Amino acid sequence: MARYTGPVCRLCRRHGEKLYLKAERCFSPKCAFERRPNPPGPRPARRRKVSDRGLQLREKQRARVSYGVLERQFVRYYKEAVRRPGVSGENLVRILESRLDNVVFRLGFGESRNQARQIVRHGMITVNGRKLDIPSAQVKEGDTISFSDRGRKSEHFKYITEVIKAKTAPAWLSLDAAGLKGTVIAAPAVAQGETHLFNENVIIEYYSR
Ligand code: SF4
Repeated sequence: MARYTGPVCRLCRRHGEKLYLKAERCFSPKCAFERRPNPPGPRPARRRKVSDRGLQLREKQRARVSYGVLERQFVRYYKEAVRRPGVSGENLVRILESRLDNVVFRLGFGESRNQARQIVRHGMITVNGRKLDIPSAQVKEGDTISFSDRGRKSEHFKYITEVIKAKTAPAWLSLDAAGLKGTVIAAPAVAQGETHLFNENVIIEYYSR
């Protein structure tokens, strides 16, 4: 599955806010956005007013970049969200939150979504006891996520065993910090501010035009 491979801090500067794409660096003075909060590239001669469409686009890009999803995949998620019964915006958040790399991140097995994605790709994660190395795989209620034998032998596992003690998982996940095992116990929460900082309804409006 394709992914963005350019400099990630540039994305925060482009979007004008911290998107927390780089684990502990995001909370340190080394954060590029803290040091240079202006957009990358040459400074524009004058600031242009952003249209409503432009604001919707920004919202969509912010969500897409936060979850590390490319445009084509994101459009697929939108179509699936609209197809499902219920509120399309909430469906979209649930689909994004149910990605395996996101769940690994939410459980604290990876310190950023990028790192979680790498852990999954390297075959370090199991779902219901079977190795699953597809970051975009959807997990569902009742699924148990843990480390594979390969994952348990890694340096990352030793590190996470220590740092996870201070972590708490969201209410829709149950975390066994001692066994480094997590279970999806409910559908993902969709409240803005709790799980995500973008407005999902604006994104639905953006695509439905
Ligand atoms: Fe964004 Fe984190 Fe880079 Fe800061 S360190 S600019 S929050 S990715």
